[in-house]
Amino acid sequence: MLHRRMRSTPLTDSLWSQNAAAPPETPALEGSVRADVAVIGAGYTGLSTALHLAQRGIDVAVIEADEVGYGGSGRNLGHCTPTFLYREVDEVRRMLGPKWGERFIRLQADAANLVFELIRRYDIDCEAKQNGLLQVALGPSAMPLYEKRCATYTALGKACRMLDRDEVASLTGTDRYHGAWLHPEAGHLNPLGYARGLARAALAEGASVFTQSPALSLNKEGGKWHVRTARGEVIVDKIVIGTGAYSDDLWPGLKQIYSIIIAFGLASEPLNENVIKTVLPGDNHVVDSAGDTHFYKLSGQRIVAGGMLEAKFGRNLDFTRRVMSERMAWLFPQVGTLDWPHFWCGNMDVVPSTLPSFYELAPGVTTVIGYSGRGIPTATAMGTQLAAYAAGTPAEDLSVEIKTPKALRWRGLISNAYVLLGPLYRLKDRRTARRDGVEKIPF
Ligand SMILES: Cc1cc2nc3c(=O)[nH]c(=O)nc-3n(C[C@H](O)[C@H](O)[C@H](O)COP(=O)(O)OP(=O)(O)OC[C@H]3O[C@@H](n4cnc5c(N)ncnc54)[C@H](O)[C@@H]3O)c2cc1C
Repeated sequence: MLHRRMRSTPLTDSLWSQNAAAPPETPALEGSVRADVAVIGAGYTGLSTALHLAQRGIDVAVIEADEVGYGGSGRNLGHCTPTFLYREVDEVRRMLGPKWGERFIRLQADAANLVFELIRRYDIDCEAKQNGLLQVALGPSAMPLYEKRCATYTALGKACRMLDRDEVASLTGTDRYHGAWLHPEAGHLNPLGYARGLARAALAEGASVFTQSPALSLNKEGGKWHVRTARGEVIVDKIVIGTGAYSDDLWPGLKQIYSIIIAFGLASEPLNENVIKTVLPGDNHVVDSAGDTHFYKLSGQRIVAGGMLEAKFGRNLDFTRRVMSERMAWLFPQVGTLDWPHFWCGNMDVVPSTLPSFYELAPGVTTVIGYSGRGIPTATAMGTQLAAYAAGTPAEDLSVEIKTPKALRWRGLISNAYVLLGPLYRLKDRRTARRDGVEKIPF
């Protein structure tokens, strides 16, 4: 299978493991510990759940196989955008029905504000910038959809607006874009710094966090759940599984609910101070209108970009670096030929609907899976729901419907289909550029 040839790289390959604020000190689990709830996995899902449980005074223990933020949460690209990555709002409403659709749309629409409020409240050191998402048009044909999105999120109470060519040029520093829409509640951050900060916040609220402690088994004995690791166990009433795209065989069948897509990130060397001032002077994160979407942001004096793994793109590193350098020089000639000393890959849990689902796997055991690439705001928000349910909120009062898991058919095919989509999108992008009478972004 194409996607199996490359896997998640060590977290230490990412820029974030070098420039994120230090993690809190956390021990490995030794001996027997009692708590009300065990959370497996210290990514955003697990940590947000633990934080929101601890805020309610509930005794919660997080058990992480590796380090805090080891999975997608420590290696994503730091775009925190409270929209749906692949779906329009009216589609989500249709898919989930009026009741659950309305609630889930509200949860997602407010999720970036939740992230930035947590960052402010717990003073999380993670390069957080809530300066807004710029979704930029490479040509005029992208504008009607952007106008629709802008109107949709405005109707949800967000102060979104359309930008003309001049305004987008002044915020991005390039005149390649025809226009844009801006969502002001979106922002960007250092993802590993945010995960570590959530762990620190959960600890401050009274949660326990154990690292380097893979959970090996979950068993119900005498009315209690026992979570066993190599050298200890946690005995609890309820379990929340937050192992996402890094799930192993801990819960039988969990890995069958989603497909894995590999995404990659690259970070440039720090740019000269005079040059970096001219790149993204508005410090927004940018996503363009191409099917083979180009997205990027700053981290200090570096540019951070990324994509989905394909046959060559993302897999052949020299080739990928060259493509990314050409794209950046096309947008910002002043950066010259960029070098990309940091390259890393990670797993994304993808489902055909591209919307995450809340599952009750057994009485007292819940999870959320299927973020499909939109995890910073969504997993943080889902943590509030997992916490509320574990704390006793009736299912009927949640913002998301609780579902029964079903194995996904054609999982491998879905992963490989994504690998093949890039070249198809590029063909379409070439046709769109011709129709729009504009130059196509390189590659
Ligand atoms: C390269 C890349 C770029 C991305 N870019 C963005 C972006 O810009 N914006 C955005 O919103 N989203 C992005 N995403 C998606 C986002 O990172 C994820 O949706 C999100 O981090 C999922 O969080 P999580 O807590 O569910 O899972 P994870 O963060 O993956 O955490 C799962 C944790 O479970 C642990 N674990 C697994 N098994 C066990 C076990 N048996 N015992 C104990 N612990 C265990 C793992 O070690 C891991 O730490 C990106 C993802 C990738 C890979």
